[in-house]
Amino acid sequence: MDEFSLIQRYFSRHARAGHEGVVLGVGDDAAVLRPSPGHDLVMATDTLVSGRHFPADMTAFDIGWRSLAVNLSDLAAMGARPLWCLLSLTLPEADERWLAGFADGFYALADETGVALVGGDTVRGSLSVTIQVVGQVPANKALRRSGACPGDRICMGGTPGEAALGLRQWQQGVHQGDAVERLCRPLPQLVLGEKLRSVASACIDVSDGVLADLGHLLDASGGLGADLRVDGFPDTPLFAGLSRQERLALQCHGGDDYLLLFTLPPVFNRPQGCLELGRVAAQPGIRLHDGNGELLSLPGSGWNHFSSQGDG
Ligand code: ADP
Ligand code: MG
Repeated sequence: MDEFSLIQRYFSRHARAGHEGVVLGVGDDAAVLRPSPGHDLVMATDTLVSGRHFPADMTAFDIGWRSLAVNLSDLAAMGARPLWCLLSLTLPEADERWLAGFADGFYALADETGVALVGGDTVRGSLSVTIQVVGQVPANKALRRSGACPGDRICMGGTPGEAALGLRQWQQGVHQGDAVERLCRPLPQLVLGEKLRSVASACIDVSDGVLADLGHLLDASGGLGADLRVDGFPDTPLFAGLSRQERLALQCHGGDDYLLLFTLPPVFNRPQGCLELGRVAAQPGIRLHDGNGELLSLPGSGWNHFSSQGDG
């Protein structure tokens, strides 16, 4: 199959669909796009290399889904609504079954989130997927990492550590179940991100682990610190059979969750479905406390996950 028919067959589904702001989609030298008046464009790109950012034996459907999901998660963290994306595929060969599975996974999430595929590139080489996403926010309303203040609550859009548990199971040969699903089909928190625009003081999506990404947010907010409560990390049924230390290590250091981690000024209530992990502090460093306020040692990392092996 030549490149032209491959693109026609697998990546032109949105070409005639009349998506918001698409003046010209797949098929010309470039796409032509029209943002809504009074909005800022928000753009992000992420490359996923086989064996580094996803297991080489992950299904084509899940690679398609996950590649788009991790990019959309960056838009969610900015409070942006996604509109368009570009897809650059590097493939060892034009395997039609693989391409059909990949396209199904990719479009399943694209259609669920209202993103149109408006162009890309297709070349031969070792399997890797680069996606660029474009969204918009009302002018000057994008969330940032940098607005946290001492006293703000530190909240998260769900339970951390479940994707890391899924990776551990995957590496042990277990390729299905709820934890593996968290790893393979992360759900970018786009609705939450848009809600947070009017309340959160800072926001980041967790790809590298709670402590690492919270550290980025605190650094960007001027070198602040955090006091976390151990009961902020819930022991959900997925962690059954793990010791508390093992679970906390996954929850503090495990990446790949793609949940939003954000700070809320005390006047705002925690959004439904979100956890409160602790509070922002003026004193730098991240500390973990038990229910009586006693200081606990942070679990060691020694954690390997796909988002942070060496080069992000
Ligand atoms: P050019 O040589 O001008 O870069 P290409 O043959 O790479 O043209 O691409 C032709 C058209 O197909 C362009 O509109 C491009 O955006 C689109 N395209 C190429 N690869 C993909 C892909 N993987 N997904 C979506 N669109 C693609
Ligand atoms: Mg090209």
